[in-house]
Amino acid sequence: MASMVHEDGRGGATENSEPQGPGRGAVRWGPQHAGAQELANLYSPGKRLQEWISVVLCFSLMAFNFIHLLANFHLGHSWSILLAIVAGILTADFASGMVHWGADTWGSVDLPIFGKAFIRPFREHHIDPTAITRHDFIETNGDNCMLTLLPLANMAFNFLTLSPAEIYHNYPWYCYLFALAIFVTLTNQIHKWSHTYFGLPRWVVFLQDCQIILPRKHHRIHHVSPHETYFCITTGWLNYPLEKLGFWRYLEDLIQGVTGEKPRADDLKWAKKVK
Ligand SMILES: [Zn+2]
Ligand SMILES: [Zn+2]
Repeated sequence: MASMVHEDGRGGATENSEPQGPGRGAVRWGPQHAGAQELANLYSPGKRLQEWISVVLCFSLMAFNFIHLLANFHLGHSWSILLAIVAGILTADFASGMVHWGADTWGSVDLPIFGKAFIRPFREHHIDPTAITRHDFIETNGDNCMLTLLPLANMAFNFLTLSPAEIYHNYPWYCYLFALAIFVTLTNQIHKWSHTYFGLPRWVVFLQDCQIILPRKHHRIHHVSPHETYFCITTGWLNYPLEKLGFWRYLEDLIQGVTGEKPRADDLKWAKKVK
């Protein structure tokens, strides 16, 4: 059910984000929305530190692994490398959909630690979708960098300890893991670009147009209340097939049947918040 589109920029704004005066009703979305302001204020210095550490460690490990992948490259692996990269990207897209769907649909900002740190940004994003475009590199990418730290560290450890023959044998698997890690790490950056309508570098727009990364028009489909489809935000390749399969609805019915929880109850609560 498409009742409101939550975005501005090229392609047409459908709602006014200007603050409204007394007696003219509450702001329904944007930075002036009471819920959005409360959620933005929950971003703490401790959280910021966690993001900084994650970004520095993650990008260092990425560079280290990339150098070792190049050093161990053999032409004979070409096809399996290509296949591994496509599979890695598909896995990242699916994972982005599962995490996004899970955080959008279940749980609450009131959950201890986890709620404020990891569910808050998802709630904020629905009632203030352009806030992400004002987040700097650290806030945008910190959480995803933390997610890929362990697998990247494990790969680096393998490069340091395994014999050349063992590395040769595992090489396509490392390519799969590396593509997966790169796309998982960059998912929120890609998501931010999909909300950015002005000043994007030409190469980013090119990648969006080829749908190597999430295109802007494509992601707008998710931002239609009540935010119940097109959860994949890395490349968006899986959004159409998953929607056709009724994948998210099926999962929600299953979970509601088992737990009795209503999907998107917390998300709706924040959307309605007026003070
Ligand atoms: Zn969402
Ligand atoms: Zn979005």
